[in-house]
Amino acid sequence: MLIEDKHECESCNKEFDWYYLVPQKWSNRIEAVVLPKGKTSVRKVEERVEKKGYFLPLRVSLYCPDCGSLNTFNVEEKEI
Ligand SMILES: [Zn+2]
Repeated sequence: MLIEDKHECESCNKEFDWYYLVPQKWSNRIEAVVLPKGKTSVRKVEERVEKKGYFLPLRVSLYCPDCGSLNTFNVEEKEI
């Protein structure tokens, strides 16, 4: 499962797109997912919750593609 969202950088206030490929707990097949081009990948999941076999991110950190500063922020909980 792919999560895509927007975030406004805490340093330069520019909005950018980011994505995260959610790992599945009991996956015995490889999900065919096309990773979005031109979007920023999550660097690290700081907090996560397990829901229906998915490890959903609650808090993530990533680098701003414009100014390169590290942003850490909460992710809205997604419905599966
Ligand atoms: Zn920035």
